[in-house]
Amino acid sequence: MRRYLSKVEKNAPRYLDRTIAVLEKEVWQQTDCLDCANCCKTMTPTYTNKDIKRIAAHLKMTPNDFRTKWLKQERGGDRDWMNKTEPCQFLDPKTHFCSIYEVRPADCAGFPHLSKKFKDFGHIHKQNVEYCPATYRLVEKMREGLVGVGS
Ligand code: SF4
Ligand code: SF4
Repeated sequence: MRRYLSKVEKNAPRYLDRTIAVLEKEVWQQTDCLDCANCCKTMTPTYTNKDIKRIAAHLKMTPNDFRTKWLKQERGGDRDWMNKTEPCQFLDPKTHFCSIYEVRPADCAGFPHLSKKFKDFGHIHKQNVEYCPATYRLVEKMREGLVGVGS
């Protein structure tokens, strides 16, 4: 699947994003995140300063206390703030509900980014295809439905 996505990146067919938008609708008809929660169990979101302020206020904590309690900063790279542990501390393991859903990080709200422009997010799909059934389904559908790109 990763090789296939690389081919699409190198040789994007016409109307790629429009086609993906149609396929994405089918993906969400067949995928229920509450049956899965694999992203919350196995990956960490990145937290922007805005996320941290909003979530800390929701939890009636200071941003500093929130960072100290739950987050660590990435070494090198963009020095992003990420969860210290996985699964995410805000995931209810039984119901798969997010206990801070209304104020969750923007990264969580946009995940798995299927509706974003493929040229900007194709490399993210390559990472996520192993963990996210919705991404996996989308790539499967792309392989079946995109004319002009060998699978
Ligand atoms: S904040 Fe909520 S949506 Fe984001 S990883 Fe944690 S449990 Fe999942
Ligand atoms: S891994 Fe993908 S399908 Fe599973 S809960 Fe997360 S976004 Fe939904």
